[in-house]
Amino acid sequence: MSGNAVRLQAIKDVEAYVPPAVSYTDDEAPGDVFGENVFNKVVMQKRLPKSVYKSVIATIEHGKKLDPMVADAVASAMKDWALAKGATHYAHVFYPLTGLTAEKHDSFLEPVADGSTLAEFAGKTLIQGEPDASSFPNGGLRNTFEARGYTGWDVTSPAYVLENPNGNTLCIPTVFVSMTGEALDHKTPLLRSQQAMGEHAERILKLFGHESPEHVVSFCGPEQEYFLVDRHFFLARPDLLNSGRTLFGAKPPKGQEFDDHYFGAIPERVLGFMMDTERELFKLGIPAKTRHNEVAPGQFEIAPMFERGNIAADHQQLLMTTFKTIAKKHGMACLFHEKPFDGVNGSGKHVNFSLGNSELGSLLVPGDNPHDNAQFLVFCAAVIRAVHKYAGLLRVSVASATNDHRLGANEAPPAIISIFLGDQLADVFDQIAKGAATSSKDKGTMMIGVDTLPILPTDPGDRNRTSPFAFTGNRFEFRAPGSMQTVNEPIVTINTIMAEALDHIATQLETAVEAGEDFDTAVQNLLTEIITDHGAVVFNGDGYSDNWQIEAESRGLPNLRTTLDALPELITDESMELFERYKVFNHREMHSRYEIGLEQYALTIGVEARLTLEIGSTQVLPAAVRHQTEVATNIGALKAVGVEADTAPLDEVSAPIAALRAALATLKAALADHAGDSALAEATHAGTVLLPAMADVRTAADALESIVADDLWPLPTYQEMLFIL
Ligand code: ADP
Ligand code: MG
Repeated sequence: MSGNAVRLQAIKDVEAYVPPAVSYTDDEAPGDVFGENVFNKVVMQKRLPKSVYKSVIATIEHGKKLDPMVADAVASAMKDWALAKGATHYAHVFYPLTGLTAEKHDSFLEPVADGSTLAEFAGKTLIQGEPDASSFPNGGLRNTFEARGYTGWDVTSPAYVLENPNGNTLCIPTVFVSMTGEALDHKTPLLRSQQAMGEHAERILKLFGHESPEHVVSFCGPEQEYFLVDRHFFLARPDLLNSGRTLFGAKPPKGQEFDDHYFGAIPERVLGFMMDTERELFKLGIPAKTRHNEVAPGQFEIAPMFERGNIAADHQQLLMTTFKTIAKKHGMACLFHEKPFDGVNGSGKHVNFSLGNSELGSLLVPGDNPHDNAQFLVFCAAVIRAVHKYAGLLRVSVASATNDHRLGANEAPPAIISIFLGDQLADVFDQIAKGAATSSKDKGTMMIGVDTLPILPTDPGDRNRTSPFAFTGNRFEFRAPGSMQTVNEPIVTINTIMAEALDHIATQLETAVEAGEDFDTAVQNLLTEIITDHGAVVFNGDGYSDNWQIEAESRGLPNLRTTLDALPELITDESMELFERYKVFNHREMHSRYEIGLEQYALTIGVEARLTLEIGSTQVLPAAVRHQTEVATNIGALKAVGVEADTAPLDEVSAPIAALRAALATLKAALADHAGDSALAEATHAGTVLLPAMADVRTAADALESIVADDLWPLPTYQEMLFIL
């Protein structure tokens, strides 16, 4: 089919499409299937010998060292459970630095001497696997001749059975490391950073009189934004299919200016998709909770309940895979790209973060009188210090070629990292800076003026949608992470910079106590010192305004606009020292992350540039030329019969055609250029040469979209993709 025929056929197919029925059976309540496919505590308690169960729980809940002796018993119970659930294979699931999930499947069946087979799954197979690591990014950590990588069982993240019409698989979350034990994945550093932060948080809790505090962990509740488009359109857009975003497309006559999509009624077809995804997530023990329309047409959000950071991160990856699969089943494509449509709101993945334990809950709960809640203020001050001191590291934890299109645009926080505290807390810290805090602003109530309505309490702090790091009552919401990325990187960074701040605070307070100082006075002095040294990061105003860019600069806050600006933060002496001190990364691992960051950036833009060249040359330009020919033919025909013809329409299409040809030639030349041999040279070339060259192609092509006859236009338009569901 020729280009426009594909598009027109897609429109017909979309109209004729009948979505499948949802998978719920009539007598099933949504919660019925929760955790059904998870090897969770309840299953373990039932199937494991008591001593083994106790030992495993001590590791999972209290961070105790894993006893290798339990592996055989766990493996055997896990195998029986999985076989009963129809699993034929098991897989060590790991999280390589591509940001995707990787799994290598092995059959449970092993041949035995008499020629038959036996289902086997030994402890050693549970504990360790050995996939070939050579095709995963390693940033120089491994030579190709040492292709070996090891996966290691993460007992703290439960195993589960993943259903598939072609056979079920027992999935075991694992870390992925090189022969020398260096991290090749996103999970290892998360677990290491978790341990570091917990240790120092517990020192502080001890100072506040909790004699043997429960293990402190980070909690994370990720809010995932995404787009849904009809699959027929998706398949007719090679750019969406191959790069996750539209590289062409003029703004539709109707955009999101009415804000009529946000929290609007969820379309019936999308609701069917949501119900099915939630059912699958429930089976996997993922606590999907909130769902709603987002700001842009075709955009939605899901927020599972918060969980321990490590589990939330694994669940987040599973959620994304599940969404892709179920969207396909419902005739749609789920887009996680941060900016699939230019000029339309992009998608983020807000990382709600707190720290705490099972005994005390979140340590970031202020209570009614935060000024009087010293323990809360200390943890909150730790966040202020951490975010101020390591703003660059937070920025780089969300840096990618794809998120660059979103950060600092008009719907996402700017690249400047600041903290929003809300009125009440900002006021408390103001008082602290001046000496001591003696009062907290009231919660207050909202008068609606209708007697039949309840009186609603107001939050002491309003929300601030423009802040990258906002306090929201019992947690901080990091709003800069991109919708496509794993939450691991932000969590690792927050954990590590918090470990440093908590360590600093604990040491200072311990020293004061040992010197016989009054504890309250020591806390007071510490808080005053922190807010004086680091208060510059607190900003309660409008993060989208131009003034903030200027003011932030005068406050000395970094403004790392692009990934190219941000990546060097990983290899500063200060960053390397920090990550080494808390044993999250050694300097080789840091260098490897930097190299991989550059590689991924260059790869992403390289693919986009080649797609732009191809679609521009083989779809857009031919359509425009056909249109040009029609116009010219028409003018000629009119002239032939003596009618005076207006030649303006010909000029109107010829100018952007010339511009498109020139831009395509420039892009082609830029792609042929040898950028240099280092990852840095390639990334720089991608960001400074390829990106602007692509933008020029797009400008000319988008201009043509509003000129060329609609029946010739080859690509599904923004209007079609965003408004037909
Ligand atoms: P918003 O109104 O900001 O869009 P949502 O309800 O969509 O909020 O999502 C809020 C997220 O924050 C949820 O995942 C929720 O479970 C999570 N959350 C709530 N309390 C905490 C906490 N103490 N620590 C971490 N995350 C939390
Ligand atoms: Mg939300």
